[in-house]
Amino acid sequence: MTLPISETDFDAVIIGAGMSGLYQLIRLRELGMRVRVFEAGGGVGGTWYWNRYPGARFDSESYSYGYSFSKELLAEWDWTEHFAPQPETLRYLEHVADRFDLRRDIQFDSRVRSAHWQEEGRFWRVALEDGTTATSRFLVTAIGPLSAPTLPRIDGIDSFNGESCHTARWPHEPVSFDGKRVAVIGTGATGVQTIQEVAKTAKQLTVFQRTPNWCAPLLNRKIDKEEMVRIRSTYPDIFRRCQETFACFLHTADPRGTFDVTPEEREAFFEKLYAEPGFGIWVGNFNDILTNREANAQISDFMARKIRQRVKDPAIAEKLIPRNHGFGTRRVPLETRYYEVYNQPNVELVDLTETPIERVIRSGIRTTARDYDLDMIIYATGFDALTGAFDRIDFRGVDGRRLKDDWSEGAETYVGMAVEGFPNMLMLLGPHTALGNIPRSIEYNVDWVTDLLRFMRDRELTRVEATGEGVEAWMEMVERASEGLLSNEVNSWFTGVNTNIDGRHNRRLSRYSGSAPSYRERCNAVAKEGYKEMLLS
Ligand code: NAP
Repeated sequence: MTLPISETDFDAVIIGAGMSGLYQLIRLRELGMRVRVFEAGGGVGGTWYWNRYPGARFDSESYSYGYSFSKELLAEWDWTEHFAPQPETLRYLEHVADRFDLRRDIQFDSRVRSAHWQEEGRFWRVALEDGTTATSRFLVTAIGPLSAPTLPRIDGIDSFNGESCHTARWPHEPVSFDGKRVAVIGTGATGVQTIQEVAKTAKQLTVFQRTPNWCAPLLNRKIDKEEMVRIRSTYPDIFRRCQETFACFLHTADPRGTFDVTPEEREAFFEKLYAEPGFGIWVGNFNDILTNREANAQISDFMARKIRQRVKDPAIAEKLIPRNHGFGTRRVPLETRYYEVYNQPNVELVDLTETPIERVIRSGIRTTARDYDLDMIIYATGFDALTGAFDRIDFRGVDGRRLKDDWSEGAETYVGMAVEGFPNMLMLLGPHTALGNIPRSIEYNVDWVTDLLRFMRDRELTRVEATGEGVEAWMEMVERASEGLLSNEVNSWFTGVNTNIDGRHNRRLSRYSGSAPSYRERCNAVAKEGYKEMLLS
């Protein structure tokens, strides 16, 4: 028997009040739905609420990152830097929550423990950590692709006497490094931002590096009022461009291949990109650097020369040059005087491939070479990416199927937004959606989900589920989209590897790496054909 909508507590429950949850709430309210958002944190903002570590900021241009759906919001919000720092972005999202009066439907400090599908009445029963429950016809997950932090598997972490913290669980109170001996473990995008900031004031900073990454200059600048007026006048162009590019960034690949030009022209082009802000050097480079080994070797060699020029001690420079992967085959961290940090007398680089960490001890970190006495350890060790946030909630679908079990060998989704066996559950930024400049994907995913729910409301349908065939076809597309990418041969969260988690040491197909326009084309076709590929009743 199907319950009339009014017999569930809510028409939709959204898990998470980050960028995707907030926008989904706005859209579902427009459908007249009764919505409740459950948010684990004490405030809105998701990624920008949790990641308060020093130096956290955008790597996408601020004005390409904000929401595009509201002309009024675009008209009233001024970005003050080309790549806004975390406090500014959090203020922006708090402003959005206030402006659209969102908080009245958000329950904070409410971590969802489980969500169980009730086939009989066609609704979800959602339970929070505190034991309270709610029922809802639809469940929308807005839990983020990089939101479940992972600590390293190192013995003795709890025995350390000083302060320690994962970057994604940074305290809300100011943290001073003055006069302190600080360690940072991890040199991904987060570690790089943290290191360059901590190095400014710490008495001693020791960086424990397992794998160096290819970092490129961010070249951030302030935006004054006048420039903001000019940027605002180009918003339609900015967002149109983001719709057209491969990964929704302002940058797009050069039409030329690396070897279509002379060595001199190539060098000049690399220099030009190196001197420009943002991701241009990664996603606006020659069109073959991420697929052609020889082309990739050219840009990698250029980047290695830059590191050697910027780091004074040649031995340290060599340690900072990646050996096991080419440029751009992992996420490129953007940096501001990162390499120069290693010229400072208060900074030491420990290469964990030479002297691995044995354990954390009461006074600091013990490597195979020596003990490092420390006041603070910062873990910039990343996330259980893409599926980690799902694994942490006990999702049960039809016949009590556990999502975590179904996904134990890797996630399987339908256009990244639905899962066979989990009716009425829709995922924003689930595995296999287009990522890239994430808010652009968020707006697309939210609008797609909203259109589906509007379609169902108008036809008085109460159940939607992905089919096995639909999932299979989509997973084939995901596989095809990744063919030929050099990044497939490299360990990183792109390929589902996290050595701190059991069963995640081998590479797998974990994300959609095709273009955002092709992704949208596919999803638009599904909608246009009346969602025939899905089971609707
Ligand atoms: P990450 O890229 O996964 O980097 C984790 C780092 O920790 C790596 O250097 C890793 O070394 C190291 N590590 C992990 N376990 C270790 C262990 N047991 N011992 C020693 N080292 C260990 O994580 P992230 O830097 O937090 O970045 C994740 C993603 O978040 C980025 O790729 C990006 O998409 C996003 N992000 C975005 C921004 C932005 O837009 N501004 C900023 C930060 C992050 P290995 O490489 O050897 O595994």
